[in-house]
Amino acid sequence: MSKFLSKKYEKLRPYTPGEQPQDKKYVKLNTNESPYPPSTLGMMLALREERKSRLYPDPDVKELSDALASTYGVKRENVIATNGSDEVLNFAFMAWCDKDTPAVFADITYGFYKVFAEINSVPSVIIPLREDLTLNIDDYINTRGTVFIANPNAPTGIALPVSEIERLVESNRDRIVVVDEAYVDFGAESCVPLTAKYDNLLVTGTFSKSRSMAGARLGFGIGCKELISDLVSIKYSTNPYNVNRVTAAMGIGALKDRKYFEKNCKKIIDARKFTEDSLSELGFEFTDSLANFIFAKSSRIGGEELYLRLKEKGVLIRHFNAPRIAEYNRITIGSMEEMQTLVDKIKEILEEKE
Ligand code: PMP
Repeated sequence: MSKFLSKKYEKLRPYTPGEQPQDKKYVKLNTNESPYPPSTLGMMLALREERKSRLYPDPDVKELSDALASTYGVKRENVIATNGSDEVLNFAFMAWCDKDTPAVFADITYGFYKVFAEINSVPSVIIPLREDLTLNIDDYINTRGTVFIANPNAPTGIALPVSEIERLVESNRDRIVVVDEAYVDFGAESCVPLTAKYDNLLVTGTFSKSRSMAGARLGFGIGCKELISDLVSIKYSTNPYNVNRVTAAMGIGALKDRKYFEKNCKKIIDARKFTEDSLSELGFEFTDSLANFIFAKSSRIGGEELYLRLKEKGVLIRHFNAPRIAEYNRITIGSMEEMQTLVDKIKEILEEKE
């Protein structure tokens, strides 16, 4: 830290992204990326657009917004596209939280919420998940502030039914609820249809997981016209060209390539089942995940030990050295071959321990 850093950032503890090691080639199951390449149509459209990189992109990314609107059954005015969904989440903290309106979220959830609160000088109200790591919506009903819920949650993968979220949104129409649906495409139910009914609900989504575009950085928010216009004001006050033209074109292609998207989601869901069945046989337990990862622990080996031993054997998973979840690991669902490798390596490690 330099002596020049503003006092307001003195205590900032930045988000720690999953490792992206370059020392050797790993089976990479630590950052919930897709094992499949982006849509070919998306890549073709992106290539064409790359030639126009001399010119700024359309700051309203109209074509992409229209494609998002038609995919999700809303109007263009209900959509904002952003540089990853991290950006739309940060915009939501900037727009709808302040010292009198805290950010409300779970103790075990996406780690960035705490950082967004800190960088925006917003107090956090942290609500513990139940003992079994499920979220009790009743704990949120009487809270004051803007609620952030990842659904499915990360790193547990546990999803709430839309009816439960609707109960929260309806319980106080003067409070905003932001539902982060980064992992919704792997079997959970989306809250997007509720945005037509409630003016206090924002749903966020990403192209990083189910549409294989983590490296292109594309996310979005869907809500009523007024909420979107708040977020657009923030975007135009920070970075109007937040979505570059190559990424926007790739996103349009990815949305048009619906069959490819559906096929990949199904493959991930099948590989998740295979992994759960195989790890159950080895004595692992996990939360009921509807995401492209599982959250697993075993009484035969500690969480950190398994993470370190797998890393030595060339398989990366994510370990969080945090209260309540230190015995777990979050394992991204990759291709069937990758999951077979994971299972084989875990078997080896357990045998070596005996
Ligand atoms: N929400 C959740 C719950 C996540 O796990 C992530 C991925 N780290 C994001 C949002 C942000 O993803 P991106 O910025 O790649 O869209």
